[in-house]
Amino acid sequence: MGHTVTSPSPDVLIIGGGIIGAACADALSARGLRVTVVEQDVVGSGATAAGMGHLVVMDDNEAELALSAWSLELWREFVAEHPERHEYSRCGTIWVAADDEEMAAARVKAKTLTAHGLSCAMLDAVSLYEREPQLRPGLAGGLLVNGDGLVYPPKSARLLMDRAVARGAALVNGSVHHVNADGSVVLADGTRLHPGRVLVAAGSRSAALVPELPVQPKKGHVAITDRYPGFIRHQLVELGYIKSAHAASGDSVAFNLQPRPTGQILIGSSRQFGTTDPAVEHAMMARMLRHAATFTPALANMNVLRCWTGLRAASPDGLPIIGPHPARAGLWLATGHEGLGITTSLATAQLVAAQMCGEAAAIPHMPYLPSRFSQMRHAHG
Ligand SMILES: Cc1cc2nc3c(=O)[nH]c(=O)nc-3n(C[C@H](O)[C@H](O)[C@H](O)COP(=O)(O)OP(=O)(O)OC[C@H]3O[C@@H](n4cnc5c(N)ncnc54)[C@H](O)[C@@H]3O)c2cc1C
Repeated sequence: MGHTVTSPSPDVLIIGGGIIGAACADALSARGLRVTVVEQDVVGSGATAAGMGHLVVMDDNEAELALSAWSLELWREFVAEHPERHEYSRCGTIWVAADDEEMAAARVKAKTLTAHGLSCAMLDAVSLYEREPQLRPGLAGGLLVNGDGLVYPPKSARLLMDRAVARGAALVNGSVHHVNADGSVVLADGTRLHPGRVLVAAGSRSAALVPELPVQPKKGHVAITDRYPGFIRHQLVELGYIKSAHAASGDSVAFNLQPRPTGQILIGSSRQFGTTDPAVEHAMMARMLRHAATFTPALANMNVLRCWTGLRAASPDGLPIIGPHPARAGLWLATGHEGLGITTSLATAQLVAAQMCGEAAAIPHMPYLPSRFSQMRHAHG
């Protein structure tokens, strides 16, 4: 469908219409730039459709905290217009502490979040069970983070894209075959485009277009149950998640349970390197469900309706890769968001737009620049 291109030379051509590409299209078109988005499938159909849609402040390091906290502010403003269209819920997160060691980790987290002005509260065992009676007995407590929430990511991506299109952005259904050294873009059907700038937001497929990009796919499984309204009220995540989620290699599962506004329970999640096979793996799914049932035993008697997988784009240091390519003029990147790209999409888009337009952003853009990786600095077009 390359022939449907309305402008063969937009200011910015965005490759990928996931939550990142859609958010960038929205932010750039809001600044008056002419934007074309090329998406090979349906908007929001990649990792964006597979993700859990948990909007969560993460604090593994200062840069992650700055990006996720800012993005959450942007999300709360964005969803406020039409919360129901995003299937938004400000459910909060409870980080569940199994023992005293994890309670100590919860206290450290509480101190960090509080120091950054984020609302949270330590829960002892009594207050934990008051809030979440389905949790297994014997847990130590947890940390409640009040500002966290959830959306239905493909819908939010669609709403961002619709807003961009209403401002004149073009959405092209096509597959980008390659990006030339002169900055032109060739689609699979042979259409050639000459944008002012190219922004690669192709998720886990970004490295197929920019081979020097240090992103690796990290596969995840998710399952959703029938409707059990009120079973849980907050997004529940085990504090042990922090250890398993960031393991650089090896398969892992972590307890991550989400109350959808429909009454369904979304069950996550697993992490695997070294595979791009989208098939649901029964052994991994069984391991994930068994682990979840050790935290909420009644889950074992519930009906799972559907399960699926998705590929996160993981960078070596766990931070996304946002900004200009250091060695290829006109080429920009917004990828590597790993398991946090729904949360960090809106701030990512503001960072891209601010850098392209020479504005100051609310947070420094330095920690996320592609130039932090030497293979990017030494790449040839
Ligand atoms: C199991 C799982 C659970 C997750 N849970 C959460 C969560 O709770 N909270 C959170 O914040 N994040 C979560 N994430 C992470 C989040 O889903 C991703 O970080 C985010 O969706 C990445 O968005 P993206 O736009 O970069 O990628 P994608 O959504 O994959 O979009 C990339 C798009 O580019 C298109 N494309 C690729 N190549 C081409 C090409 N050559 N030409 C044209 N189009 C192309 C694809 O079709 C796709 O639509 C989760 C991810 C997974 C897998």
